[in-house]
Amino acid sequence: MCPSAEITAAVLVSQDSLVFRAAFSAQILSVQSSFLRSGSSYQVGQPVSLYRILKKSLLRLLAAMGITGAITGSINQGAWRVFPGLMLPDHGGESMWNAFAYVPLAYKMQYASQDYVKRFQEKRLRYIADFAYRNTRLYKEKFRNAGIKPGEIRTLDDLKKIPITSKAEVKEGYPSRSVAAGFSEQNCVIESTSGASGSVLRVLHDRYAATRMRAVSLRTHLAQGVRPWHKFCILCRDPEEFQEYEKMSLLRTQGIMEGRPDTELVEEMQKEYPYILAGHPSAMVALARAVEKTGLPCTPRMILLGGELSLPWHRTYIEKIFQCPTYNKYGAYEMISIAWECKYHTMHIDADGGIVEFLKDGEPVAPGERGEIVVTNLWNRAMPFIRYRLQDIGIPSDEVCQCGRTLPVLKEIEGRCDDFVVSPSGELIPPTRLIAHFFSTPHIRQFRVTQKTLDYIIVQLIPHQLLTENMENQLMDNIRKAVGQGITVELERVDSIPETGRGKFRTVISHVNVDLASSRATY
Ligand SMILES: [Zn+2]
Repeated sequence: MCPSAEITAAVLVSQDSLVFRAAFSAQILSVQSSFLRSGSSYQVGQPVSLYRILKKSLLRLLAAMGITGAITGSINQGAWRVFPGLMLPDHGGESMWNAFAYVPLAYKMQYASQDYVKRFQEKRLRYIADFAYRNTRLYKEKFRNAGIKPGEIRTLDDLKKIPITSKAEVKEGYPSRSVAAGFSEQNCVIESTSGASGSVLRVLHDRYAATRMRAVSLRTHLAQGVRPWHKFCILCRDPEEFQEYEKMSLLRTQGIMEGRPDTELVEEMQKEYPYILAGHPSAMVALARAVEKTGLPCTPRMILLGGELSLPWHRTYIEKIFQCPTYNKYGAYEMISIAWECKYHTMHIDADGGIVEFLKDGEPVAPGERGEIVVTNLWNRAMPFIRYRLQDIGIPSDEVCQCGRTLPVLKEIEGRCDDFVVSPSGELIPPTRLIAHFFSTPHIRQFRVTQKTLDYIIVQLIPHQLLTENMENQLMDNIRKAVGQGITVELERVDSIPETGRGKFRTVISHVNVDLASSRATY
């Protein structure tokens, strides 16, 4: 079925050896060595890699030709990392390049039998549960408190013995309890997440884990039709992220700062002429509005959305303005990649990167039912995430996609837990129901609905001059009707609405805690 995946997994858990691995497929040849230290299965690094060999050779060649200075400087800074989508700023160039070597494996896994994927997941689960128990205080205590030993975790059915871990627990324990022995910010790839309250959790991925997950992300881009020669533009909110892309501006990937005047933004788009455009759905909507307003044409061939919940109206509007398909991706910093849309617009779950559970009252839901998403990262040793609550709600599906991939299907993501407004009677009101009213009201620049308490909601609004009192009253009436009786809704006109952290903009926020998975939603 997939013998090379077997071999790699076996090599991974072997100890005391200098491992040379060669992966050869479709013009990709990588030779790298990994030095595994005895006892703790701690991977020290990857001292020889294709990346270093090629980089060194190129620099020598340029030096021999008398070319130095700016060109060699930009090569040193990683400007020659050509494959779009690989170049996320926080990631070390080496793990990016090594990711190529694992693409054939990741490619095969999407067509492997479900039985094979299950065995693969179980093998990784046994390893990661044991590793987390032995190397982190957080999981050692959790396992002990639950009265289980890592040796008892053998199959996917045993997973439910492990208690669920919350973001707060991981954050409180950072770094002394959550980060595994031998790992630190110095030898890991760093990611940060923003929480509901804007609180930030540092997430560390060991280089090997980041490499494997990056290969999984690459598979996504290949499946969606992204090719290295395509001009790829990314809408950035973070100036640092933008600068990283700027360093690579000689190549086919380009960062574009959002939040600028409409004409300026659209003119830059026309200058760059992207074949593929990527960004947060809300940023893409803003760009689409700018295009509609200025009337200047902007014609990408494909739009990739990710980073925040993409609502149905986001996609309808974006597709209408740009006249091209959009593809969604569902990820989290803790996992890097979780699910993505193929050409047939089916969300496939990266089962070889993590175990995704959909739970209701602690039990898995049936296909088609909504459940709280709980993930287990199968690769990350630096900061293990085992049965980690992502605070999202999703619906699994047993559909088979016509693309032929056997990866499990995610029917729908329903949004961050606190994006639902909770009525005093305990009903959940989906954000889409509120957002639709704002979208149907003209002359609103930006808005946010915040549920402060069970019976109080504040609507913040940045109005356009043309927004009349009548429109405003109509909008508020609609919102009041949507949330039902027993909740006071107040309006506040503001000049700016802050982001919730690291470029994530959320339109509906609820500070009311509720066990979503066991509540009922209203539509
Ligand atoms: Zn598919």
